[in-house]
Amino acid sequence: TLHTSTDDQFGFASVTEEINEAVLKNDQPAAAARINELMMKEKNITLNIAITGESGAGKSTFVNALRGLCDDDEGAAPTGVTESSMDPKPHFHPDYPNVILWDLPGIGTLKYPADSYLRYVGFEKYDFFIIIAAARFKENDVKLAQEIQRMKKKFYFVRSKIDNDINAERRKRDFSAERTLTEIRDDCVKGLRGLGIESPQVFLVSSFELHLYHFSLLHETLDRDLPAHKRDALLCATPNINPEIIRKKKQALKSKIKYWATLSAAGAAVPVPGLSIVVDAALLVGVVTDYVHAFGLDIPSLKRLSARTGVPYADLCAVIISPLAAANITTELLLKVIAQLESVAALIAAEKVFRWIPFIGIPIAMGLSSTKTIKDQILNLILDKLTEDAQRVFKKALG
Ligand code: GDP
Repeated sequence: TLHTSTDDQFGFASVTEEINEAVLKNDQPAAAARINELMMKEKNITLNIAITGESGAGKSTFVNALRGLCDDDEGAAPTGVTESSMDPKPHFHPDYPNVILWDLPGIGTLKYPADSYLRYVGFEKYDFFIIIAAARFKENDVKLAQEIQRMKKKFYFVRSKIDNDINAERRKRDFSAERTLTEIRDDCVKGLRGLGIESPQVFLVSSFELHLYHFSLLHETLDRDLPAHKRDALLCATPNINPEIIRKKKQALKSKIKYWATLSAAGAAVPVPGLSIVVDAALLVGVVTDYVHAFGLDIPSLKRLSARTGVPYADLCAVIISPLAAANITTELLLKVIAQLESVAALIAAEKVFRWIPFIGIPIAMGLSSTKTIKDQILNLILDKLTEDAQRVFKKALG
């Protein structure tokens, strides 16, 4: 992602400039320090999403679906229970604790006017609000939306449980899913207009099937509305609901390879060769582990996907090709995988360390190579292979 200077509350642009400068001057320690700073800044970006609506509207189920959890998973928000808590309840994403979904009590539950309600739930901290209803939106929802707007925050209407509506309509002879969706959406929009919202954004969603209906559209809209520095946080935490999301994740991860490769090369500049390999491999293990998590290819994510979709875990694993997916990523495993990448031997040959290979093996020759080109290409190759696995798993589970 590009962090442009117009969107630089977090100082991304200035750090990026400093990195480029240090790289140009071939000042590896300075580049490494600045890159670490940039990565820390990124890790510390939080996304606070407020989910509100009447009790029973489907807030908890939506919160769980967004996190890829089953309602009975450990750490899942309890669903189907009458609201007991009067306080906003934070739910953390299992892989990205910086992405927090806040289950807010319904405004009707608290019986506060909209402005007191927003103050009570601490409206400043939320990046945006999602107002959920299982049928028509009511006056309370509209009052809340208007107050959110007055507070200069964004809101989106989600009409939940669309699978129920579709299933009921399906019994009719002239059933058309497309027409049913249009009718429900128009009805919601008309209702909201009647209550005073000019051009409401309404998304029809089933929390049991996020890959269907309007959830993808909701994601695109949020992505467009969010400031640039928050987009990656939203993207990484979004389940793989379509091939496009997987492609976007790949792009986001790819854009950072140059930084990792620079860092890794800086590690290789340590004058003790044995040590440099360890430093280097540890860094690459960290990066590759991040990839696997972003694509949901780690064992816990695959198990959750299996539980949510009913596709057996073994069937999901069967379409995976990369040995790095559905595995515990260790230095040994990573070096083995790298050594087996088709083009690595050629790359190393081009780097003129090939004459060492018969004696010390490819992984070590790699570690000895101090240029960042090889690391750059290795990460790109690994990322490509994991992306392909993610696409295959998606197709198997939901395609
Ligand atoms: P909350 O009180 O707003 O948190 O609502 P819950 O998430 O507990 O949901 C209330 C009930 O609606 C539960 O029985 C859920 O299983 C059900 N529900 C929630 N979302 C959906 C959905 O998208 N489709 C269907 N069919 N049922 C849903």
